[in-house]
Amino acid sequence: MLKRAGFAVRGLDLSLEKLDPDILRDARLVAIYLGMHTATRIAIEALPRIRQLAPQARLCAYGLYAPMNAALLRSLGVDSVLDGEPEAALVSLCRRLRGDAPPSAQGEPSTQARRLRFTVPDRSVLPKLARYAHLVLPDGSTRVAGFAEGSRGCKHLCRHCPVVPVYQGTFRAVPVDVVLQDIRQQVEDGARHISFGDPDFLNGPTHGLRLARALHAAFPEVTFDATIKIQHLIDHAALLPELRASGCLFLTSAVEAVDDEILRLLDKNHDSADFDRAVALTRAAGIALAPTFVAFTPWTTLEGYLALLERLVQLRLVESVPPVQLTIRLLVPEGSWLLALPGFKDGLMPFDPALLGYPWQHADPRVDQLQRNLQDLVARSETEKRARRDAFAAVWRMAHAAAGRSAPALPEHLGTSIPRLSEPWYCCAEPTAQQLQSF
Ligand code: SF4
Repeated sequence: MLKRAGFAVRGLDLSLEKLDPDILRDARLVAIYLGMHTATRIAIEALPRIRQLAPQARLCAYGLYAPMNAALLRSLGVDSVLDGEPEAALVSLCRRLRGDAPPSAQGEPSTQARRLRFTVPDRSVLPKLARYAHLVLPDGSTRVAGFAEGSRGCKHLCRHCPVVPVYQGTFRAVPVDVVLQDIRQQVEDGARHISFGDPDFLNGPTHGLRLARALHAAFPEVTFDATIKIQHLIDHAALLPELRASGCLFLTSAVEAVDDEILRLLDKNHDSADFDRAVALTRAAGIALAPTFVAFTPWTTLEGYLALLERLVQLRLVESVPPVQLTIRLLVPEGSWLLALPGFKDGLMPFDPALLGYPWQHADPRVDQLQRNLQDLVARSETEKRARRDAFAAVWRMAHAAAGRSAPALPEHLGTSIPRLSEPWYCCAEPTAQQLQSF
């Protein structure tokens, strides 16, 4: 949209590239995309250097995590903060800058209510697809992976989710032809797998099915993965065989917990038994399920944590869960709907700009200690490239020891390896040291 309006656009992906003084020197505007927590952490580290390299530029932040961190970003010198669907606002901001009108530091037009006319993304300013995370198949072979967005927002209101404060229970479908053209340009760039980044692929089940059919009809050899919540896997189970037939290799689902009370507090709209149902339904359809968890919350007990590990063993899902998922601690960002839970905020510490959230301590210090120890253990396992089952066995032993129980021997069959992406990204991941070194 910016190029079409006549602006020169350069791109820098700070997860892969270094800040380039030549690019920044003459920039009139530096717009930083904050699509996830990791990106926001990287941006906060990079902002002083960007300011130094582009002293005359106006700074703008946009994307899901921009509005919820608006005060912090402004304190770091960001002039304009745009919300989740910022394209039109970015264009109008650039137009004002080009017209030499005095830029106002406040009051960028909100795009919350604006209906965006979706256009095919221009990916030519990004590094080659082959430099990004790729698909890894159980036999160890890999495929170049692309990314597509079939919808934005979500019609659900899970309390801990960063999508909720911006979209407030709404979602927008991207037209199928726009998505398909975006996929086509990535296939031409080598993609053999597409990872759909929709918060939930079945928010609009008919739309999701149309997308899968269109993808398969145009590129029968291209596979895909998507994210679908447990409730949708059950409600729309009849669609799963056709998703599989259209090339769906695996589905990510935010299970979050196996404790019904925690699921109720998070407003997940599924219960622990629904997890079992979803596993059975996806298996019956021949699609691998990759569940994700918020393993540590203020309500998690040592026994509850062991129950999560036991469930993964019972369901033979150990190979389907990246060990880092077993260490995730609930993040409470500014604007989180968790803050509206009666009494919840009273248990939190003041907002921490380094964490981009409200830190909390568990009432049982053993739980916090276990989470820290597991984090170190899993980080070591990643460095040593240990197999998931070996990392799980170490987690199993450590968790039992923390609860004062001896760890039972694990069964031989813990599940089979499933297709996965080479980087286990999730929205609350901390940036890696390598990413922070780029500036
Ligand atoms: S966690 Fe998933 S289903 Fe819930 S609001 Fe967020 S995107 Fe929607």
